[in-house]
Amino acid sequence: MSLKKIYNTLFKNYGPQNWWPGDTPFEVMVGAVLTQNTAWLNVERAIHNLVEANALSAETIVAAHPKRLAVWLKPSGYFNIKAKRLKNYCRWYIEQGGYEALLGWPTDELRHGLLSVNGVGPETADDILLYAFDRPVFVIDAYTRRLFRRLGLIEGSEHYEELRRIFETGLRSASDRVQLFNEYHALIVIHAKDVCKTKPNCQVCCLIQACQVKGP
Ligand code: SF4
Repeated sequence: MSLKKIYNTLFKNYGPQNWWPGDTPFEVMVGAVLTQNTAWLNVERAIHNLVEANALSAETIVAAHPKRLAVWLKPSGYFNIKAKRLKNYCRWYIEQGGYEALLGWPTDELRHGLLSVNGVGPETADDILLYAFDRPVFVIDAYTRRLFRRLGLIEGSEHYEELRRIFETGLRSASDRVQLFNEYHALIVIHAKDVCKTKPNCQVCCLIQACQVKGP
């Protein structure tokens, strides 16, 4: 089954996901930094703390005392590390002129800039590019590796950039790649969380006909 057919099957089964869960591009960026190694619910709690403290802005986060910031971020786990990473990101964001200035950057340059921030890896950078800046980059995460390995389309051990190339090339003819990549990543996440889990529930899987392994 082609990448597009897999998308169509997932979309038909789950419907539009309307990601990313965030009210502003800056909130999306903060969520992308905080979501590393934790469940989204915990990220929501940390963002809620920032909102309650009137601290959901790059300037406030940079100015905040590290211990205070860590307390706000505590629900997201690894909060001391994440406080440092978020400060690094916000400092870089302000230095580049903020959202309006970054909007004018070509995608490759913007990706390179995001990856230059200490604590921002390829998945976080691509979350930000796709969901905060509407750039056509395909986000690769552990769910993507697991699902497409089981479907027999990848080995699962490929380098991040190799997988990104496979998906972006395989879907290059789509008319609106930003919208497609946005929905596709969200659909992969919901399917991998609910059905193609560590112990998969193949009996209810909409992709069972295409699956090579039908099991872990
Ligand atoms: S059939 Fe099972 S292993 Fe294959 S994609 Fe579906 S849930 Fe995952």
